[in-house]
Amino acid sequence: MKFNTKAIHGGQQFDKAYGAVMPPIYQTSTYAQSTPGTHPEYEYSRTHNPTRTALENALASLENGKYGLAFGSGLAAIDAVMKLLKSGDEVISTSDLYGGTYRLFTKIFEDFGIKFHFVGMQNANQISSYINDKTKLIWVETPTNPMMNIIDIKAVAKVASDHNLLLGVDNTFATPYLQQPLDLGAHIVMHSATKYIGGHSDLVMGSLVVKDEELAKRLYFIQNASGAICGPQDSFLALRGIKTLHVRMQRHCENGKAIAEFLNRHVKTDKVYWPGFEHHPNHKVAKKQMNDFGGMISFTTKGNTYEEAIKIIENLKVFTLAESLGGVESLVGHPASMTHAAIPKEERENTGVVDSLIRLSVGIEDKEDLIDDLKQALDKL
Ligand SMILES: *Cc1c(COP(=O)(O)O)cnc(C)c1O
Repeated sequence: MKFNTKAIHGGQQFDKAYGAVMPPIYQTSTYAQSTPGTHPEYEYSRTHNPTRTALENALASLENGKYGLAFGSGLAAIDAVMKLLKSGDEVISTSDLYGGTYRLFTKIFEDFGIKFHFVGMQNANQISSYINDKTKLIWVETPTNPMMNIIDIKAVAKVASDHNLLLGVDNTFATPYLQQPLDLGAHIVMHSATKYIGGHSDLVMGSLVVKDEELAKRLYFIQNASGAICGPQDSFLALRGIKTLHVRMQRHCENGKAIAEFLNRHVKTDKVYWPGFEHHPNHKVAKKQMNDFGGMISFTTKGNTYEEAIKIIENLKVFTLAESLGGVESLVGHPASMTHAAIPKEERENTGVVDSLIRLSVGIEDKEDLIDDLKQALDKL
């Protein structure tokens, strides 16, 4: 099956009870048993729920994996991955990470004795010098948030396999429409399904997909034992979102390209970060591992001040100022004071998250309206 067909049918069966075409919302915590000790297919909804199973199968299919797991948020999914580790283990992670992931690593798991190295991975050779016999996991985000750096997943997978390490990839920004990390050698692919997978800014959810049965068993154990699952209603919404993932992504990419090119031409902008530009430092890798370049763009202004960024943001009318990304509507964010506020200023600025940086999640409205909106806000500077 090709991707668009999978988005509609992948991993799905008609409902056994009435043949419902969409999986029903099984709003139940428990399931009737005929006699103690017999195990019906479902026992208790922390462990399994049919609506969640339908979603988990759809996610596994989209990522060319075998086993899908859905969680109450993206961070709950990453939390489950970290619980594969134990005190004393070490993790090598991308340096310009999503702020919440950085906070989870440094403020929670460091206290449990796990050590993290944050490394610029645009050159995969950088990783080797951090590897020792305690290293267990490499954690990659690509494209990175919000600097749109691209990391060569295949090259990192080679390093991981040479040293027998697990490789996890946060695929939130790219989605399986653009990039399939398991095919490139990753062991775990993770999503904040809150973003493009759900696609309508109406739920908070996370997911993991793996191929390996042993790894899947350990993760299902953690999912059930720790219990950070998502409910049936949200599972239904995510399934509904997935059915249009490919058409939404196509438009996100088309609009993203038009807006990146507009910003790049505008006299008031300075740097424009979008992996589709030939002058983007990792453009070749992006072209190789992604099917297109997505709708996430960051930029700075010529004046390069906090005040200019705030003025633009406050003057935008179609773009809504809000946390999050990946919904049908266009959003604008100010990483330094919003998503990345948890990262110390010096560390943040070293990776390029300066006070004038603005991040756009380009939606699927008419691109002319989006460009007009940006134009009037930039022209007011
Ligand atoms: C939002 C986000 C997360 C966290 O996901 P939640 O669903 O908000 O918990 C992790 N990684 C990336 C890249 C994100 O954008």
